[in-house]
Amino acid sequence: MALKDLNDRQAVLRALEEYDRLKRVPFLRTYGFGTADEYVLAHDGRYYDSKAIVGVAHLFQSGELLSNLAFKGGKKGAVRALKDMDFEVIPQRRGSFVLLWNPSLWHWDEQRRLAIQRRILAGGTGSEPWSTGSRKKDISKGDRIFLFLVGQQERGLVASGHAASNIYFDKQWAADHPEPAPHISVAWDKLLDPPEVLPWETIQRTVPGFPNRYQGGGARLDGLQTLTLNALWQEHANEVSLAALGDPARPEVAASYSYAIVKRRNHQQQFRNLLLGAYEPRCTVCGFDQIEILEAAHLIPDSQGGASSVENGRLMCPNHHRAHDAGLFHLQRDRPIWTNAETEFLAPARPL
Ligand SMILES: [Zn+2]
Repeated sequence: MALKDLNDRQAVLRALEEYDRLKRVPFLRTYGFGTADEYVLAHDGRYYDSKAIVGVAHLFQSGELLSNLAFKGGKKGAVRALKDMDFEVIPQRRGSFVLLWNPSLWHWDEQRRLAIQRRILAGGTGSEPWSTGSRKKDISKGDRIFLFLVGQQERGLVASGHAASNIYFDKQWAADHPEPAPHISVAWDKLLDPPEVLPWETIQRTVPGFPNRYQGGGARLDGLQTLTLNALWQEHANEVSLAALGDPARPEVAASYSYAIVKRRNHQQQFRNLLLGAYEPRCTVCGFDQIEILEAAHLIPDSQGGASSVENGRLMCPNHHRAHDAGLFHLQRDRPIWTNAETEFLAPARPL
């Protein structure tokens, strides 16, 4: 029996049970799969390595384990087989990076930090250069960034964003480090206050393979770890932002937020994260690639039942997002078909 003959949903559910029972790393080791997998199976709020699940489901259906090698070039086949059995598969082509913030080594200017928080509260992102420590090349534009507060009583996830640049070398922040050091620009999309961190221990319990500590250059997380951490983080940030609504000490939150806006923005942000994990970080229509203001657009509007999924979503610049939602064009195989053909070509504005 070949990969394409896998069609028994029950066999897949059994493989998921086996995965839950053994836990991720022992499961992969037992059946000879690696962790790098750019398609993640989502089921009941949990995430699974799709290839390994397909390989083991194949074993349960036919008695023959599909080994890692049997997938060579057949990744799409595994995805299609799962989708045909009504499972949700999420492409997560980019991993993410954990960076560290130790306030006793680097003082994040409070005014700048609060300015970023305000821009995020207003529904945008705030960008800032960040040192990548000993990491000199592997972070590239579009990668998800998680920032961990360390060296404090509170230890845990304090901010998230996306790399808005590749790594570049710039003068070090500290006067005693005159040598140029590796940096990236990060477009932050969430930034909590230190007492509000998502505790390290909670993450360790939930994200498979998340260690007790990271050093210097932080760490890389794979697609499954990224999706799991994103979901946990989103839930935590929801709680924090909703709690801040009723907090008289945070009048700026109450002023710019209603409960409904918080919910909608958080949902929109989750959708944007999903698309940034799956697509090149640029506008589908014009290629504009400033991550700071890229948005997640629904092809079929959510008001018409369109899902917030990778299939139904594309990244767009704010102009093309508005034009799309106003019905000025629709996408056909990712090419814009303009309702009024004359709007297609834009000339720079000149004085009349
Ligand atoms: Zn555009």
